[in-house]
Amino acid sequence: MGGRSQVLASRGHPSREINMADAPRTVLISGCSSGIGLELAVQLAHDHRQRYQVVATMRDLGKKGALEAAAGEALGQTLTVAQLDVCSDESVAQCLSCIQGGEVDVLVNNAGVGLVGPLEGLSLAAMQNVFDTNFFGAVRLVRAVLPGMKKRRKGHIVVVSSVMGLQGVVFNEVYAASKFALEGFFESLAVQLLQFNIFITLVEPGPVVTDFEGKLLEQVSTAEFPDTDPDTLHYFRDFYLPASRELFRSVGQSPQDVAQVIVKVISSPRPPLRRQTNARYTPLAALKAVDPSGSLYVRTSHRLLFRWTRFLNLGLRCLACGCLRIRIWPR
Ligand code: NAD
Repeated sequence: MGGRSQVLASRGHPSREINMADAPRTVLISGCSSGIGLELAVQLAHDHRQRYQVVATMRDLGKKGALEAAAGEALGQTLTVAQLDVCSDESVAQCLSCIQGGEVDVLVNNAGVGLVGPLEGLSLAAMQNVFDTNFFGAVRLVRAVLPGMKKRRKGHIVVVSSVMGLQGVVFNEVYAASKFALEGFFESLAVQLLQFNIFITLVEPGPVVTDFEGKLLEQVSTAEFPDTDPDTLHYFRDFYLPASRELFRSVGQSPQDVAQVIVKVISSPRPPLRRQTNARYTPLAALKAVDPSGSLYVRTSHRLLFRWTRFLNLGLRCLACGCLRIRIWPR
């Protein structure tokens, strides 16, 4: 993996005096074999001002083909692929030891796994895996890069959270809990880190059309869920699953769109603590903000899912079409 001077030399600037102010920032991203991580790595590596040296990491290097193909000429120039399992201390240490000086300017905690289904039918091991990856995986990486960032008095930690880090969603209890954990952890840490000129940003996408939810919904639609009573199974299969598919179909974003938002956040001189990515999801997210007691959100979600299913589908299509927003907020 090239250091900063090597990076510049390899781009055909051998005689250019290296000014650390305009040296590319090293960005380490977890979970780049697919989805948002892959898109983000590619967009940063193709930055026309070459402001970034991307270390695009993944657990299984056997899956690097798609990333390398998308990176094209940036591969080996502004983008390097490295192995990193966020659940392993050794893997994190090994990955950082390959970066010159271990210096990471921007860390993007993107790796994550989902878990959907009736609680009674999910194993504790599966739940622990969600926390090990989504929460402790991010904590492990931050602990590894933080001493260097503190020493240099600069850095940016980006966390791919979710709107489910702000509000719970039925049959996603454990996944939402892992994202709530991230929100609490990083909001707390942000206060201390401002003293070190280190910024934290929690990026909160709504539904994103990636392998993540696609595979998950496919798997759970045929899964058995032992120990789950017939009523709960009926609510899950006949109410939740169709509504979830409609949600993704109507307001789902592309990973490219989400990556674009993250690129903007990374290039901002004063990055925000929170950044939602999907304006079409905002009306759903707003329910909680409007009523801090939480009753409005819980009761409305309950009614929309179990009583007003047709209204829910109509509303989602309306949000997708965008005409409502234009009428409410005319230009
Ligand atoms: P994805 O499945 O394409 O990407 C997740 C990546 O994490 C995969 O490449 C996977 O291999 C990797 N990963 C899983 N466990 C890992 C481990 N132990 N070590 C290293 N990498 C590991 O799905 P995505 O939608 O691009 O998800 C990226 C992030 O976005 C996740 O944190 C997810 O929670 C979040 N998110 C997704 C959605 C959505 O609807 N897809 C919505 C909001 C937030």
